[in-house]
Amino acid sequence: MTRALILGGTADASLLAAEIARAGVDAVYSYGGRTRAPADQPLPTRIGGFGGVSGLADYIRREAITHVIDATHPFAAEMSRNAVAACAEAGTPLIALERAPWTRATGDHWIETRDVNAAAAALPEAPANVFLAIGRQHIAPFASRPQHAYTLRFVDPPEAPLPFAADVIVSRGPFTLEGELVMMRTRGIAWIVARNSGGEGARAKIDAARMLGLPVIMISRPQLPERLRAESVTEVMQWLGHRTCLGA
Ligand code: NAP
Repeated sequence: MTRALILGGTADASLLAAEIARAGVDAVYSYGGRTRAPADQPLPTRIGGFGGVSGLADYIRREAITHVIDATHPFAAEMSRNAVAACAEAGTPLIALERAPWTRATGDHWIETRDVNAAAAALPEAPANVFLAIGRQHIAPFASRPQHAYTLRFVDPPEAPLPFAADVIVSRGPFTLEGELVMMRTRGIAWIVARNSGGEGARAKIDAARMLGLPVIMISRPQLPERLRAESVTEVMQWLGHRTCLGA
């Protein structure tokens, strides 16, 4: 009997959960617990860390999980590394549902950096309005570039003081191209710092930057161990041994 564990927290994970529920596959959806009101899922849901590699391996055994799908965000590297190690320890098959990264289009002005520290260092010396399109847990390095005026966007209002003063937008994506153009124009944004998340829900800011001729400091994805990968929900359903009504 199949019993799947979805490591979630992304739009792709929600699509997968819907398809798994539709197919009647026994599954548990897992949230990391970062957002205060995570979206409801049509599957039994658990919230919070497992307690590292051994905690996840114990959970897999205890819950008789037969398949693990890592559908976390491409920058949720710790969870993804833990999943590889825990599945190896428990002898349980793992697949990653991983959307393709964005690639440059004509008119893009990207400065690619390997991590957030390098991104902060890549900002210009002259003061500028900067849209930091990165999670709140990653903003600290920008305190070392205090000459800039930062716009941040979070799903929930910040609970703790930020490491520097900033204009904070509280909003949950996906965001439209029109909305991103208005946001960037009204704030006079001159630089964007983004992570190469890929997917449609977050790409409007990249398209808006291209249309406005703005430079984007693009943080590359973290290196992860070798693992089986799928780019679509359909591929994951096939891996689980189920057909889907989805086209792609
Ligand atoms: P992370 O740094 O890779 O993970 C830190 C720890 O959080 C993990 O070691 C694990 O704790 C716990 N964790 C993370 N995802 C979990 C999940 N789906 N279920 C149970 N525990 C989880 O991850 P993160 O970047 O903080 O992301 C946390 C969650 O937010 C993920 O579900 C991710 O998909 C979602 N998310 C992240 C981003 C992003 O930009 N990073 C963007 C959108 C959504 P233990 O070691 O105790 O098991």
